[in-house]
Amino acid sequence: HIQSSHPTFQAAKAQSWSALDKSKLVQEVMYMVNDQRRNPYSKVLRTGSATRGTVSDVYNDEEQEAIIWTTNLYLGLNRDKEVMEEAASAVAKFGTGMGTSAAASGLTDLHLEFETEFAELVGKPSACLFPTGYTANVGVVAGLLGEDDVVVIDQLCHASIVDGARLCGATIRTFKHNDAADLESVLESEVSPYRTVLVVLEGVYSMGEGAAPVAKIVRTAKKYDALVLVDEAHSFGFYGERGAGICAAQGVTDQVDFIMTTLSKALGSLGGVIAAKEEYVDLLRSSSRAYIFQASISPADIAAALTALRRLSTDDGLRERLWDTTRYMRQRFEQAGYDLGTGDGPIVTPHFSNKDKLFAIVQELYKRGVQTSAVTYPIVESGRGRLRLICSAAHTKGDVDKTVEALIEAEREVDNLLVATKEKAMD
Ligand code: PMP
Repeated sequence: HIQSSHPTFQAAKAQSWSALDKSKLVQEVMYMVNDQRRNPYSKVLRTGSATRGTVSDVYNDEEQEAIIWTTNLYLGLNRDKEVMEEAASAVAKFGTGMGTSAAASGLTDLHLEFETEFAELVGKPSACLFPTGYTANVGVVAGLLGEDDVVVIDQLCHASIVDGARLCGATIRTFKHNDAADLESVLESEVSPYRTVLVVLEGVYSMGEGAAPVAKIVRTAKKYDALVLVDEAHSFGFYGERGAGICAAQGVTDQVDFIMTTLSKALGSLGGVIAAKEEYVDLLRSSSRAYIFQASISPADIAAALTALRRLSTDDGLRERLWDTTRYMRQRFEQAGYDLGTGDGPIVTPHFSNKDKLFAIVQELYKRGVQTSAVTYPIVESGRGRLRLICSAAHTKGDVDKTVEALIEAEREVDNLLVATKEKAMD
């Protein structure tokens, strides 16, 4: 619970950053959880993979075959035969859990090999694993900064960055989404009282956009000697040569101080990683409480991630499949008349002006064997919404066709219901 008198909260309020307006966010989530039709926690995978399987609903035990568009398993490696076999052999060799943190002997050679090979792939000298992507971000921000420092964040950055800054008491400033000119004005006028300035951005944001203008933002940050952290959760593995990510694709790896990604998306496992120069990684290993005081990644998860890392860095076919299906998907939705915004990446988000209609569509799609999610406030403006479909290399064009047809039908059904309800109310 953050006190409203806390300086970070006051600073955020002064910038009227809606994502930090906790009471409104909690109200919105409680409202959704208490409504069977909107509860984001209601779907359970019974069997199958994260892109296609048998699902059920916690309110109703009936099982349903579904095409699943709600996970970030971009390359489908969670179901790759070799990845699964290596995870199983790691369990046979090391057992299930590590039982302690890296700092207290919670490491296998698989952890060390992953760190070395990840660092090599993204073009940094060293890397450091955390148990999740969330704690990697908390750990790097809170491990580096203190109360005399400031973190300057793109206003759409992930919650874990904000939480890391809150934990260490650093001041938080935000700049307008993807706006290098706004970042420049913040750096010019608001950061001089602070000791260290850390600028944070993402390579691709998760709400349906394309690649961020990372090179432009990084150049601006470096003009003011700021440190830079790029979160590549939604870009590592399928942007850049060998999947090295957006920093590599935009040629700014050397100017970026910290490259972060999660092991839970393209790598199909669980964990987080920060790549940087050796001095910074050593500093994190000795100063980051999220690193020192948390059990390390389990043998199965690190074996899966290491096998997936080797696979994605050598198999361009995986990326080609993902991008081919993504392009097809965007084309099919646009031909059907849906507004997808300006993005070009695998997160496809038809926009809806009415949030209630959107939730009803998600329900209707589920009945038709298509699992999707709705993105609403505070991620988009209050009252509006986006349907979110995350494409992966494991989806087929046939899945796309079925989904577009189901969406057209679902929307028609919801429109008819809305007209009938209105007419009833007028009787
Ligand atoms: N950063 C970003 C941009 C994310 O989208 C996420 C997860 N949604 C995370 C960090 C956290 O990663 P993880 O789920 O592995 O903890």
